[in-house]
Amino acid sequence: MNYFSTRDKSLKFSFKDIFLRGLAPGGGLFLPARIKKYNREELNNLSQLNYNELATEIIFNFCSGEIKKEELKSLIQTSYSRFKYKEVVNLKKIGEIDLLELYHGPTLAFKDIAMQVIGNLYDYLEVAKDKTVNVVVATSGDTGSAAIAALSNRKNINLFVLHPHNKISNIQRKIMTTIGGDNIYNIAIEGSFDDCQKIVKELFNDDSFRSKINMSGVNSINWARIICQIVYYFYSFFKLKKNKVSFSVPTGNFGDIYAGYVAKKMGLPINKLIVATNKNDILQRVINTGEYKPDTVKPTITPSMDIQVASNFERLLYYILDEKDGKVELLMNDLSSKSFFNLEKKEIDKIKKDFEAVKVTDEETVSIIDEIYKEHKFVIDPHTATGVGAAKTFKNLGDIVVLGTAHPYKFSDTIKKALGKNLNSPDHLKLNIDKKESFDIIGNSNSEVKKYILGKIQ
Ligand SMILES: *Cc1c(COP(=O)(O)O)cnc(C)c1O
Repeated sequence: MNYFSTRDKSLKFSFKDIFLRGLAPGGGLFLPARIKKYNREELNNLSQLNYNELATEIIFNFCSGEIKKEELKSLIQTSYSRFKYKEVVNLKKIGEIDLLELYHGPTLAFKDIAMQVIGNLYDYLEVAKDKTVNVVVATSGDTGSAAIAALSNRKNINLFVLHPHNKISNIQRKIMTTIGGDNIYNIAIEGSFDDCQKIVKELFNDDSFRSKINMSGVNSINWARIICQIVYYFYSFFKLKKNKVSFSVPTGNFGDIYAGYVAKKMGLPINKLIVATNKNDILQRVINTGEYKPDTVKPTITPSMDIQVASNFERLLYYILDEKDGKVELLMNDLSSKSFFNLEKKEIDKIKKDFEAVKVTDEETVSIIDEIYKEHKFVIDPHTATGVGAAKTFKNLGDIVVLGTAHPYKFSDTIKKALGKNLNSPDHLKLNIDKKESFDIIGNSNSEVKKYILGKIQ
């Protein structure tokens, strides 16, 4: 399978290339040259498979020619062996809501589902065989721990994780700063997640630095993450046995919900994809008004969604702009020179065919957690609660699956405030609460991060 860049269709890359690079040269994002579309009969066949078999079939479409199917299958099996459930995810009925629990991996958020596979792909593709690879990743709280769990103690790999200092939950930080081996470096940046993401992008766009440290990335702009996330849209659709469903997705960087968009392109009968945002609502604004304008990041009780630059939105733009790479580039240049861009009415209408979007405030989120607990004796995390809130707004759409993106234990402090209740750590979380946390605090600039990385690897 070949890949190109959203800003330059003439570029050509292999799966291994895009896996290692994450970001295309010139700043665009990678997309596959073809997206397989399943017909009815093929969908019916897929519906008979268990989770690992289904994951093998779906992911294989995007890396065939470079990975053997049998080997992909065993890689996927290994990747999901640490999950609480054999079927990886868990679909649960809570009153009228169909909740898809995606948080039963080693670090209790949906990020594990892609990251565990990615960790094994680093070994399988032998990207670090001759030369140490330095992975640099920005996290709003959950990607970091998932990446650490996936890459800890892997040979010839170092991992540098940038998180916004004091802007993630205590348990998020604790997991991240205590579970890693000697090849893991946690950096607390004195800034927001957007600052962390910006620094990582700047390092990627600095060719000499990138090649000097043999840099690789696992942020949600890495296409390999998206393809692993497509799987659970198919899986839950098949489990529900409905003709058509919508999905409500707590959204930050637009990665998880974009996987749903690809699933729809692949022929899955999805009605609407509902973007749930917190008050950092750039996506809600662009989808409803056409203006894409990052604001300053405001801290909320859903820190993993405290993002104003939703990188993966560029992948949607490519299709909305009729696959015109030049147009994508123009808008992205507008964004960097003027700090915003505007979409035309017909483009908004096109987005609205597949998407709805709504903002859920912290107060609403707390009352949803409270309500679900009172009515069903079930605790949901704040991010998942935004998804429930968004689903309620669009009740008229019929069957809606809400993606449960994190385990409530990860946000114990907020749950304690909302419900006055302490949560126990799930059994499969191997957290040593007393272990000393390991992280360094660094100023918000790419030169300081570069200096830090070079200092560690020399
Ligand atoms: C990462 C994350 C999100 C947002 O996912 P995106 O792919 O960035 O849109 C939502 N909820 C939780 C718990 C997360 O960790």
